[in-house]
Amino acid sequence: MNTAKPIAEATAQTSASRQAKVVWGGRIVTVGGGAPVRIQSMTNTDTVDVIGSAIQIKELAVAGSEMVRLTVNTPEAAQAVPHIRDQLDRMGIDVPLIGDFHYNGHRLLTDYPECAQALSKYRINPGNVGKGDKRDKQFGLMIEAAVKWNKAVRIGVNWGSLDQALLADLMDQNSRRDSPWGAKSVMYEALVTSALDSAQQAVEMGLDPNQIILSCKVSGVQDLISVYRELAKRCNYALHLGLTEAGMGTKGAVASAAALSVLLQEGIGDTIRVSLTPQPGESRTQEVVIAAEILQALGMRSFVPSVTACPGCGRTTSTTFQELTQRIEAFLRAQMPLWRSKYPGVEKMKVAVMGCIVNGPGESKHADIGISLPGTGEAPAAPVFIDGEKRMTLRGDAIAEEFQAVVENYVEKRFGATTVSQM
Ligand code: SF4
Repeated sequence: MNTAKPIAEATAQTSASRQAKVVWGGRIVTVGGGAPVRIQSMTNTDTVDVIGSAIQIKELAVAGSEMVRLTVNTPEAAQAVPHIRDQLDRMGIDVPLIGDFHYNGHRLLTDYPECAQALSKYRINPGNVGKGDKRDKQFGLMIEAAVKWNKAVRIGVNWGSLDQALLADLMDQNSRRDSPWGAKSVMYEALVTSALDSAQQAVEMGLDPNQIILSCKVSGVQDLISVYRELAKRCNYALHLGLTEAGMGTKGAVASAAALSVLLQEGIGDTIRVSLTPQPGESRTQEVVIAAEILQALGMRSFVPSVTACPGCGRTTSTTFQELTQRIEAFLRAQMPLWRSKYPGVEKMKVAVMGCIVNGPGESKHADIGISLPGTGEAPAAPVFIDGEKRMTLRGDAIAEEFQAVVENYVEKRFGATTVSQM
């Protein structure tokens, strides 16, 4: 008798963190505590440029960013924030804004109360709030503002701006150990300690622990995994996850995906940001697209119908299937702002575009809708499979246009209001 047991399905664990609420008007973005892992992003416009910043924030929000951070680095930037908020509200964009503060956040949040109110969350870097006896006072002023205006706070430690006094103290303690730790272990400990001690201090100052989100960002994949595993072990604050300075293009996308996927699979991380350096001319929204792709690839959330495509090989030397894949992917993504509300559930749809008969029909049958294009030497016919059944065969020069129309028709029938109300 075959005694084999069924192979367990791999699924991402659920985070066991507290839940923070990042609020603007009627929009409440829950972070942690069983909420879907949230996507956030950051502008790269000059905050003083109110219109330019508002336009970019709108683009990021439309691309799927559920919170958008912007730097608040000068009095002029702090004065611009409420105007950016107004502009967004006028455009109907209710995405919560996060203020990124370094060095002078205590002054800006105190001197510009309209800025403090227009933001929904403050990012405080404990390594940059001041030195010596000024540190606690300045940190305290920022926490005071968060309590006063009822805002969430991210205590965001970054290894590039780690609290040097704390690091020196931990190195000192380490040198007195019988077997001193390696430099990396001391650095990990400093990152985690800085975040946890600052959070504890904020709670003692009256901040609701549910309103605290922590992050400890580093730029190495294995370093990030080590630090976050420890952070998640030592606290239940909601965690913001991201590889800092991930880099440009493929390198940045792959490094972020590698690091974030390992941790998200273990139930670590409640909101993510992909810190991608844009390629010249590339839209800032690319970091949002990649963050969404990571969550969708892990099966944690669905944002856009997925397209399964074969890589192509010597059996299909034409570029037809590459062009069709690109066209269908662009079409689906472009339709989503409209489809999201019109066709609920469409984001879970699976489309297959395959290059030849070897895996084409099989993969197409697994998708909701799939097309198997003819490989080299095959009859010039492209069978289309809908819900696992072969429904038609496309031929000729207009296969791409016809398949797009078939997809559109399928979406309307399957996800349209009439069908939903009949179900
Ligand atoms: S489906 Fe066909 S063309 Fe695509 S990779 Fe497989 S064998 Fe090659």
